[in-house]
Amino acid sequence: FMEKALSNDEFIIHFQPKFDLNNNRIYGAEALVRWVRPNEGIVPPSQFINLFERSGYISQLDRYVFTEVCKFLNRMLKEGSRIIPISVNVSRASAEKEGFIEYYVSTKNQYGIKDGFLELEFTESKALEDNDLLSDRIKELKKHGFSISIDDFGAGYSSFKALQNLEFDIMKLDAVFLKINPNNPKKNINLLSGVIGLAKTLGMKVIAEGVETQQEVALLRELKCDVIQGYIYARPMTGTDFITFVKNALSSKTEKEKLAEVIE
Ligand code: C2E
Ligand code: CA
Ligand code: CA
Repeated sequence: FMEKALSNDEFIIHFQPKFDLNNNRIYGAEALVRWVRPNEGIVPPSQFINLFERSGYISQLDRYVFTEVCKFLNRMLKEGSRIIPISVNVSRASAEKEGFIEYYVSTKNQYGIKDGFLELEFTESKALEDNDLLSDRIKELKKHGFSISIDDFGAGYSSFKALQNLEFDIMKLDAVFLKINPNNPKKNINLLSGVIGLAKTLGMKVIAEGVETQQEVALLRELKCDVIQGYIYARPMTGTDFITFVKNALSSKTEKEKLAEVIE
């Protein structure tokens, strides 16, 4: 089904904006794939990514998503929109595939995307720990102007070894950190604060994911988290809606004023 779906353009990409708490402006967006199946509607990635990872098809899909994102940024450039950095998910199997660096670097160059506008997200996992191949590839990608993040940090292994061995620029905190236990909130908050501090000591930027409430934003602000992503700011949206979102975000009123009603 997947091969046919690729040639039928059944995969589409949604963009979820991220908000920079340091300057109260849009920071970037994450590209999230959806499968629009004829007669079935939109299928979320939770229903096919794992299967594609097991069957080995994931690298084809990841390359497709990456290429579409480069095309999209190129379109924004041509339309004269301000360019916003976009992050793209990369499964481990895709990153380990032969020709991975060559493909991502040549596609970035083909569409004229400048350094600093593409971020690759690698999910935290046991397999990330002792991975010399990935370690070398991450170094190489950084030389070519990509930013690299560790995704879902805290959801599983929270591998300190991965932090030691791989040169991440960004830590994406999993939404589990935001689940404050009412019986012992201090402990949750100390943990969150400590993890943010750890990331900063290592020179990483911190992005909190799955942020849904004003209280969470206030707490993250207080703890000096850099960026938030979640429904409180924006849901994933189509490319066309995203271009409008960026235009509005950058027009007359500052985002801080606009967000004041929701966030402060
Ligand atoms: P992820 O990388 O952790 O992406 C964030 C997920 O959280 C997205 O789910 C997003 O829609 C959802 N989300 C965002 N804000 C909120 C919020 O405030 N509350 C809640 N409850 N959820 C929020 P989505 O789009 O269903 O994607 C699920 C996962 O599928 C992603 O998790 C990622 O691991 C994977 N995925 C998506 N696109 C790709 C892709 O192109 N390649 C690969 N390899 N994996 C992908
Ligand atoms: Ca991600
Ligand atoms: Ca994540």
